[in-house]
Amino acid sequence: MVRRRCYTKLEKKVPVKTLLDESQLNNGVEKLAQSINETYGDRPLTIVGVLTGSVVLMADLIRKLKMPLRVGVVQTSSYQGTERGALTINSDMMLDITDRDVLLIDDIFDTGHTLQEVRDLMQRLGPTSLKSAVLLCKTGCQKVDWMPEFVAFDIPDEFVVGYGLDYNGEYRNLPFLACLEPEDLGEA
Ligand code: 5GP
Ligand code: MG
Repeated sequence: MVRRRCYTKLEKKVPVKTLLDESQLNNGVEKLAQSINETYGDRPLTIVGVLTGSVVLMADLIRKLKMPLRVGVVQTSSYQGTERGALTINSDMMLDITDRDVLLIDDIFDTGHTLQEVRDLMQRLGPTSLKSAVLLCKTGCQKVDWMPEFVAFDIPDEFVVGYGLDYNGEYRNLPFLACLEPEDLGEA
């Protein structure tokens, strides 16, 4: 495992442990896109990204998808630092999904509660089909009885940042995925 030091825009030293480097992420997203392309073929697809953590994945993934595509977003927020708070969902910017094939995109599947709530909300709107794709799945942490149909990487149960994922609003711009060391939590 490579350890590297990087610097935030505030020039604060941020020691982080790299879990997936840029090339591994790129390969994982490429494979994810291939599976999605194979599953849907030429059928028009409506992507709904879960803000804010999915923005980097969305930008990379949608450019590799070949079917006619519409892109909408919903916003959820639940974490304060590394602690989970009450989940809120804002669906004002979601597209019409009734009678559409819909693919929900999120950064990480941890307990699964976030995607489950978004999925339940969307299911009530009557899509033709509704599947989920995530960059990361935390092994053994799920508290729901289903899994996303598309998963790029299974990772250990550590708090990760980078490639869209944040800690208190920072680190989303790291081009690689990193674990925050326990001693760094609270310093962001
Ligand atoms: P779940 O509801 O599946 O437990 O958690 C999903 C959401 O929690 C993700 O969309 C993400 O925003 C956040 N989350 C879960 N684990 C992590 C993590 O290790 N790092 C970060 N930055 N966010 C996480
Ligand atoms: Mg999220």
